[in-house]
Amino acid sequence: MELSKQDWDIILLNVKNKMDLYDIAFETWLKPLFINKIEGNKVFVSAADINSAQIVTERYYTQIIEELRLYLKNNSIELIIEAADLLNSSENIDYSSDNEIEDADIDNIFLPNINYNYVAANLNENYTFESFVKGNNNSFACEAAKAVAKEPGCEYNPLFIYGGVGLGKTHLMQSIAHYVLRKDPTKKVLYITSEFFTNDLIDAIGRNNNASINKFREKYRNNDVLLIDDIQFIIDKEGIQDEFFHTFNTLYQNHKQIVISSDRPPRELKTLNERITSRFSQGLIADIMPPDYEMRVAILKKKEELEGIFIDDDVLKYIASNITANVRELEGALTKVIAFSNMSKCELTVDFAKTVLKDMINTKGKDTITPQKIISVVAKHFKISPTEITGKSRIQSIADARHIATYLIKTLLPDMKMTAIADFMNKKTHTTILASSNNIESRLKQEENLYDKPLTNTIDLLITQINED
Ligand code: ADP
Ligand code: MG
Repeated sequence: MELSKQDWDIILLNVKNKMDLYDIAFETWLKPLFINKIEGNKVFVSAADINSAQIVTERYYTQIIEELRLYLKNNSIELIIEAADLLNSSENIDYSSDNEIEDADIDNIFLPNINYNYVAANLNENYTFESFVKGNNNSFACEAAKAVAKEPGCEYNPLFIYGGVGLGKTHLMQSIAHYVLRKDPTKKVLYITSEFFTNDLIDAIGRNNNASINKFREKYRNNDVLLIDDIQFIIDKEGIQDEFFHTFNTLYQNHKQIVISSDRPPRELKTLNERITSRFSQGLIADIMPPDYEMRVAILKKKEELEGIFIDDDVLKYIASNITANVRELEGALTKVIAFSNMSKCELTVDFAKTVLKDMINTKGKDTITPQKIISVVAKHFKISPTEITGKSRIQSIADARHIATYLIKTLLPDMKMTAIADFMNKKTHTTILASSNNIESRLKQEENLYDKPLTNTIDLLITQINED
């Protein structure tokens, strides 16, 4: 069998057209694929690296193989997607078969969607480790979840994850479930919320016969991994909590894994019976904190990558620096600007994002000071454009304005990390930021003993303007 470069290009274009892919998705994922070799009916296709191989496998495998078979008029063609950078190493992975991931690093799970019943386990298809961004705010919880996923029911039982709303608890819990099932689809895994557990039990009790209670017990006690989300909503009734306690104990004694999430740590779960919270405390407790600026940018970038779309970095930075409460809102903001820009066919610029997000972004009050605002006030004062401030021009007046803007961001936004400021100002390292800020600080210091204080006055004026609405 022969397949020329032209043939391959046509096949890829067919995939693009049938799937109605954006150009950017095509250019990023499909175009770089090349045929490495053909052996019998097997077509070996290379992607640049593991990451692309994973994404191509997940999203386009079915369509590519279909087009290949159609084009070659041969239904027994097999497709194997490999990562070019692994081809020469022993880690070479054959995506066409259901690989054992026994020893694979959990950070590199890139199996095609093997058949496992995530619907029966109550899982959202997208909540996997691959789509979860690990950062300062969640690294411990993330590592704990991976350890549990690798060896459920062993060391960390129960795993208790807590944190505020929209910070990724559900996503992380379900990632464990997906992983366990991918590794062994015969494992019994069940994800439920504590409300669901409560209602299910009330329902079973309401039927008033032993069979339904037994069925209920069977359903919850007969699992390898049971994940109960938002335990704070479990009803404060003896009967409910008793049943939960027994479920917990049965699983625990049989070395089955229990994963629990809550909006607060066990000791603060006041409505929960103490014998239950003390059980929780015997396991591993991991918290998730709100994401910092870098993490917010990283999450937006991941989302951009997963959607296969391209968004201007400035827009991502604008969203990341203004939507700070939690990841759910962050994603909501991104989805909203993308949808609006598609609908109105307007280019997705920072100004466009500002207009679309004005309801989500609080524009009143002191906590509305953002790096954008500081830059725009400084730019206006010096009669230059904001992009000149974040740009690279060495013209003295512009460089001065840049130093001042940097100093003001650092002073007025003390929670913003140096690396985040550097990123914002388009600087490679935070040392540049430090240098800028020190420059202004020492000039202010020199002015302290002078009668004329031009810089001090300018800075004061700017701060007043920044604090105005
Ligand atoms: P919680 O259960 O803590 O309220 P969720 O797990 O529902 O939060 O997360 C809210 C949204 O944010 C989900 O869409 C989830 O995929 C996303 N999300 C949260 N944390 C992360 C992360 N670290 N990486 C990628 N997506 C995340
Ligand atoms: Mg949740």
